[in-house]
Amino acid sequence: EAMLSRLGGDEFVIFIEDAVDRDKVLSLADNVLRAFRKSFLIGESNLYVSVSIGISFYPEDGETTEEILKNADVAMYRAKEEGKGTYVVYDKSMHTPFNERMNIEKHLRSAMNNNEFELHYQPQVDIKTGLISGFEALIRWNSPVLGFVSPLSFIKIAEDSRLIIYIGEWVLKEACCFMKSIHDRTGLRHKISVNISIIQLLQDDFVEMVLESLEESGLEPSCLELEITESIFMESFENTVSKLEFLKSRGIRIALDDFGTGYSSLSYLQHLPISTLKMDKIFIDSLADDSYSQTFVHTIIVLGHKMGLEVVAEGVEDVSQLAFLNESDCDKVQGYLVSKPVPQRGVWELLEHQNFY
Ligand code: C2E
Ligand code: MG
Ligand code: MG
Repeated sequence: EAMLSRLGGDEFVIFIEDAVDRDKVLSLADNVLRAFRKSFLIGESNLYVSVSIGISFYPEDGETTEEILKNADVAMYRAKEEGKGTYVVYDKSMHTPFNERMNIEKHLRSAMNNNEFELHYQPQVDIKTGLISGFEALIRWNSPVLGFVSPLSFIKIAEDSRLIIYIGEWVLKEACCFMKSIHDRTGLRHKISVNISIIQLLQDDFVEMVLESLEESGLEPSCLELEITESIFMESFENTVSKLEFLKSRGIRIALDDFGTGYSSLSYLQHLPISTLKMDKIFIDSLADDSYSQTFVHTIIVLGHKMGLEVVAEGVEDVSQLAFLNESDCDKVQGYLVSKPVPQRGVWELLEHQNFY
């Protein structure tokens, strides 16, 4: 009693005319989901396909075909976000995040040309000496229309729209140049850590882009650290590992960011060309709770050291956390306890007055 059609790509539409009640529609959706729980036998392999379904009703969810389809699409995206293999019925409240996303993307497109981005820098401190050893560059976007937008909300959108390729290149070049200017003024060799997105890493010219940034700025390779998250390795292991291995062989450092929150197994860790583990803030936050968490943090530090890695604790906010990390032999800390991320001129001030505890 329904019409099935393919919209394009991997999107299909099921059109039910004169559905008497909602439950009928929902149970059809259930049946479709159930059908896809079985695998498809292709050649010798059993393949699984995941499905996400969005549902909208006429006339409450739209008066025109376009509106009905658009709202089913909004609901479908919500179903995907909820982890696939499920259906979601459209609801007016869903519209806001979807529109917001489109809005951010629209303004993101012109942000580069309008110089709306700025880098802030957060110091990393050597626990043993209490001195700043380097900084992490963190992007800030102040849009004249949207105001301040957190990287947590726009980086993902920049990735989906591939704008991150240009934004990320700007970040790297800007950060390298700024750090070189610090070296020239202080005569010291502070490191600069730059976050890299999987989309950047997958570009064929990623390695050249990094080498070019070093050459143009004159920064020594050993002063640059690229921060990569675990998900990067999961998505395209071969392709990304060989690029990072090459960069590491040139003296560039590689840090595994947000360690402990992703999916990488410990056996993976052995094969990654990394020099630093950045233990996620989650572990530091839980330190106060129980001795179990303390054992965990301690063990991560020991593990890192046994593998010849430097261990950095992220998001350190109070002195008791610092004391525990110090006792556990953690190498470096980064967090509000030392300083929030600051603009360029704040970096000079921090370097002049450093001595944090
Ligand atoms: P991240 O790389 O893990 O950076 C650490 C985040 O924790 C930063 O948030 C920093 O401001 C925050 N943080 C540091 N210390 C503390 C603390 O003591 N307490 C609390 N509550 N937070 C602390 P931010 O700047 O909002 O950046 C969020 C994320 O956005 C970053 O996480 C990174 O994944 C991404 N990001 C930022 N800049 C860039 C960039 O230039 N390129 C890419 N690809 N991603 C970026
Ligand atoms: Mg980072
Ligand atoms: Mg992190």
